[in-house]
Amino acid sequence: MISYQNLIGGQWVAAQDGRTFTTTNPADTRETVATYALGGAADYAAATRAASEALPKWSAQTAVARGRILSKAAQILESRKAELATLLTREEGKTLTEATGEVGRAVDIFRFYGGLSYTVGGQTIPHDLPGNLLLTRREPVGVVALITPWNFPIAIPAWKLVPALLCGNTVVLKPASQAPSMALELAKALQEAGLPAGVLNVVAGEGRAFGSEIASNAAVQALSFTGSHGVGTGLYKALSHRMIRVQLEMGSKNPTIVLADADLDLAARLVAIAGFGLTGQACTATSRVIVERPVLAAFTEKLVAAAKAWKVGPGLTPGVQMGPAVNADELEGNFAAIRKAQADGAELVWGGARLTEGDLAHGLFMQPTVLGGVTPTMEIAQEEVFGPVVGVIAVDSFDEAIQVANGVKYGLSASLVTRDFKKAMVYAERIECGVVKVNQISTGLALQAPFGGVKNSSTDSFREQGTAALDFYSRTKTIYLDYSA
Ligand code: NAP
Repeated sequence: MISYQNLIGGQWVAAQDGRTFTTTNPADTRETVATYALGGAADYAAATRAASEALPKWSAQTAVARGRILSKAAQILESRKAELATLLTREEGKTLTEATGEVGRAVDIFRFYGGLSYTVGGQTIPHDLPGNLLLTRREPVGVVALITPWNFPIAIPAWKLVPALLCGNTVVLKPASQAPSMALELAKALQEAGLPAGVLNVVAGEGRAFGSEIASNAAVQALSFTGSHGVGTGLYKALSHRMIRVQLEMGSKNPTIVLADADLDLAARLVAIAGFGLTGQACTATSRVIVERPVLAAFTEKLVAAAKAWKVGPGLTPGVQMGPAVNADELEGNFAAIRKAQADGAELVWGGARLTEGDLAHGLFMQPTVLGGVTPTMEIAQEEVFGPVVGVIAVDSFDEAIQVANGVKYGLSASLVTRDFKKAMVYAERIECGVVKVNQISTGLALQAPFGGVKNSSTDSFREQGTAALDFYSRTKTIYLDYSA
């Protein structure tokens, strides 16, 4: 069993009140994966103090100097890729292939912003008078608080942390209690790469305590949060009186639309990967398939065939395509949603059962699940289910498909499967979401492109990832210089 402490002011420390907590392997709940210091109010206060003290020196460094540390950390993480991916799988449950991809993504994020460090600067803007110079300067926001979920335990901390550091901010990061090891491993790599003490502080522990610290400590100038809508909106309200910069990226109810002209084998494959891959525990997972009626039966048959063949098991077992639910609550939540859908009139076409054969009995496994006869107003078509549960909704036209797709309070990712280029473009214009895919899975993002949602999926204030992330983590100062006299 691994033992972690929190990183505060460059020191690895126990919680001030000595409390600890553990994580277990969702593929075999008899196995404890790691033990952690359980951070509370005093620890978050100490971390914020350390970040404030480190800010003047770090923000005075050039972006290029900061970028060198990020690039070095990329190399360190790359050299530990296999070990980190195995740990990620043991703690969060996704397959080793998925975990290896995620660790690789984190490495690439460090590499991307390390390279970008040579370009982080302001603009020169033509002035309306001669002998005048008008320019902007990017400056750090200050101490930045980051709160991350368990489902991408290394990629999401990386895509917040790395641009924040590049822009010259100092950081207090609180990873999800379900899977904190990866955030602490990122901190280790950065420390080894030469990150000065206090620039990054990582405190695993109580979310509520960190929320209170951010709400009451004037030193914290920004919060970037990814997680559930309930927690996100609670934080937003608690911070409103401070008027600091807040970015919330939250849940969704992502559709894949299958039009009558679609390649149905492709459509079924895309929905299976986006719905069952990552055990459906992705904010961009497909959970609604909106299908034109003429191909409803043929598509559903192909999707069910894919679900039946989907290999479920421990993520470390070669060939497994889907690991367990992350914890018992999530697993039970999935079954409750399926039961509610059936009570509302949906048909359980395939799946819906817990898998307990042999070694699976010790883990939190379930069948990939397909529900048919779903109507747009049913709860299963409206509320996020963070699991491998796909509801199929029949529609009579392309227009109706778009209307149904938009008829939810969320708007993160949406996919369309068609051969009709015109419809693809009309959909891209009319769909209400932040990520639009055509003939692709609704999951999967390019790290160099902006990412974020609309409606209840996001504060829609700033985008994450790519160069767009720099706008959240920096302020623009405008400078007027007159040399005409
Ligand atoms: P969550 O329960 O909202 O937790 C997210 C983070 O907030 C965790 O670190 C959690 O800490 C912390 N937290 C909980 N209560 C808090 C409070 N009162 N104040 C401050 N922090 C608090 O979400 P989750 O279950 O980890 O993640 C699943 C959700 O994230 C889904 O809804 C999914 O759609 C969403 N998600 C969205 C995106 C996106 O980019 N839009 C990406 C991934 C996931 P503890 O773990 O200690 O409770």
